Amino acid sequence: MTYTGNLIDTSDTGAITAKPASLLIDRFGRQVDYVRLSVTDRCDFRCVYCMTEEMQFLPRKDVLTLEEIYQVGRAFTELGVRRLRLTGGEPLVRNNVIALVNALGRLPGLDELLITTNGAQLDRMAAPLREAGVNRINISIDSLDAERFRRITRTGRLEKVLAGIEAARSCNFDRIRLNTVIMKGYNDDEVLPLTHFAVERGIDIAFIEEMPLGQASEHQREDTVCSNDWVREQIEKQYTLVGSDETTAGPSRYYSIPGERSRIGFISPMSHNFCADCNRVRMTVEGRLLLCLGNEHSSDLRRILRADDGQNSHQDEIKSLERAAEIPVPENLKQAIVAAMDLKPERHHFYEQDYAQPVRLMNMTGG
Ligand code: SAM
Ligand code: SF4
Repeated sequence: MTYTGNLIDTSDTGAITAKPASLLIDRFGRQVDYVRLSVTDRCDFRCVYCMTEEMQFLPRKDVLTLEEIYQVGRAFTELGVRRLRLTGGEPLVRNNVIALVNALGRLPGLDELLITTNGAQLDRMAAPLREAGVNRINISIDSLDAERFRRITRTGRLEKVLAGIEAARSCNFDRIRLNTVIMKGYNDDEVLPLTHFAVERGIDIAFIEEMPLGQASEHQREDTVCSNDWVREQIEKQYTLVGSDETTAGPSRYYSIPGERSRIGFISPMSHNFCADCNRVRMTVEGRLLLCLGNEHSSDLRRILRADDGQNSHQDEIKSLERAAEIPVPENLKQAIVAAMDLKPERHHFYEQDYAQPVRLMNMTGG
């Protein structure tokens, strides 16, 4: 694919002259209009399915600055991306993340700014996030039992996350969704309690099958992975689930419950392949553009952002988000993003025995 220039006119007047479909189309005809930006690989939790207990985090010099992350987000929106999600690691442990949210929230062409968080900082950060432009928020919670919550997160305190959920509820987000990974032997008896918890509060819940990203240190993933078909059967013991036609342009399959506001989602990468509809890419906080969660195909955007090849000579001047917003996004950054679409593989191979699975853990990936 060739790329010839700005899709969205952000010239002097700042007027948006066009809001066409995304320019990002891969070899299989899939349009990429959703990007997940990791803002840190660090986290205050050590969830057993996501991290090992002793983690080595990236050295500071390898981590993109907020200004660099902003430039990538802006490049994507200028290429027609409509939705950005901030994730990590835990996005709310990154210093000054609200300033980044503020800057991204003002990007022309962006329909939604989303965030996925473990909820531990939300009691004080929910309101600033809403004010800064976050539309929807996902909060991860895998147990309603304090001791068990501690066992799964290794360091987390359930009451902090519950307070975070309440704070988010009072902030008028367009939607709040709980994310839950059900694992045999850890929390497989909590499918219904967690569903009740969401339904009573009128918020959504999505059940995510555990994925083999990196080595889990306390269990063999094949022993704990729980199929969402089984999770759904548990829910249907007490609730009627009605399939929704609503397209979420993503891997979640949603069901509604008659008379309730909550929707129940299932993200089932292990038992159902949804790759044909994949509309997303991810950027790690090192600036590696990952074209697929389950493969290593990637493009190094940091090399372009930091290259001293004359084209990006203004990079030195970008010392603040305000300044980053005034300076055009480097054209070669946009070109690299467009070119990377040709690297997007057709599908992941999570359930194939002999396939080399990624060694990168979810916190490095930007879940
Ligand atoms: N720290 C934030 C949080 O926990 O919500 C955002 C990052 S976390 C990597 C994003 C989501 O990925 C969480 O909902 C978490 O439960 C999920 N996750 C992490 N490792 C996973 C794995 N191996 N398989 C499936 N989901 C995973
Ligand atoms: Fe941290 Fe989220 Fe990973 Fe848990 S799932 S360790 S909260 S990044």
